[in-house]
Amino acid sequence: MRIGALEGGGTKMVLAVCTENGEVLERASIPTEEPAVTIPRMIDWFKERDIEALGIGFFGPIQLNRSASDYGSVTKTPKLAWTNTPVVKPFEEALGIPVAFDTDVNAAAVGEATWGASRGTENSIYITIGTGVGFGIISNGKVLHGMLHPEGGHILLQKHPKDTYQGHCPFHPNCLEGLAAGPAIEDRWGKKAIELADRDEVWEIEAFYVAQGIVDCIMLLSPEKIVLGGGVMHQTQVVPMIREKVKKMLGGYLSTSQLDNLDSYIVLPELNDNQGILGCAKLALDELQNR
Ligand code: ADP
Ligand code: ZN
Repeated sequence: MRIGALEGGGTKMVLAVCTENGEVLERASIPTEEPAVTIPRMIDWFKERDIEALGIGFFGPIQLNRSASDYGSVTKTPKLAWTNTPVVKPFEEALGIPVAFDTDVNAAAVGEATWGASRGTENSIYITIGTGVGFGIISNGKVLHGMLHPEGGHILLQKHPKDTYQGHCPFHPNCLEGLAAGPAIEDRWGKKAIELADRDEVWEIEAFYVAQGIVDCIMLLSPEKIVLGGGVMHQTQVVPMIREKVKKMLGGYLSTSQLDNLDSYIVLPELNDNQGILGCAKLALDELQNR
């Protein structure tokens, strides 16, 4: 079966054709320009590829409530050209196939939970730490949506005692994204994150913030697995530091087989850069099945 997948980001759109078994048959990417340019280009790409359904994982905030009149649209976004842009509708109309829609990070969470690091669990969290911070939450086997969708990047944190940085988020002085996303690291230290690899103090502060986010998730959602993705996590030396701080912050309050073995509980993704598109493909398969 040929399933279309579209991972929509602020800088690029990744287009792919996948199978129902999680193989990627073909993959391409185009820059994200204004919708009137980019949407028709993507439609043309998929039109030539004989797909049976399409799954879209898109940057947010987006409207996921199926009974809302603007279901399937980007809503209010800092990427102004995309404000109030319908995404699902033009694809449905042009391709005449079922179209599934979710956030980019929810799609990545679904990808990893289906074919990657969190497969076999019913409750998992995928955290991306890149240009922004996002949480995709799978709860009892379903993607958690709620009134909109979780915006875990903006949970509020305690500041690190040695961190004088004012934060990068225009809305909150002390949210996770504003303190720990790639741009925050670069702004705090005046250098690209990749050039800070050997500076322990950088990763000590980073780990302190990511660990707080994880501990709050553990307490609130009781996940069976936590997957850490996104560009910043290419600094894999930070992962053991995060685990150590999580253990300390939990304070011995909980004891489960998972928490007794944090090396296999807080892990890196297994699908390389394909978790997003593979998650989109899975969402499309589910959409086909539900119709
Ligand atoms: P996006 O979030 O835009 O989809 P990424 O997940 O690649 O893309 O995140 C980009 C951010 O991650 C940038 O702020 C960049 O500084 C940071 N980043 C990318 N690669 C690395 C790396 N190898 N080490 C540290 N930081 C990185
Ligand atoms: Zn914020």
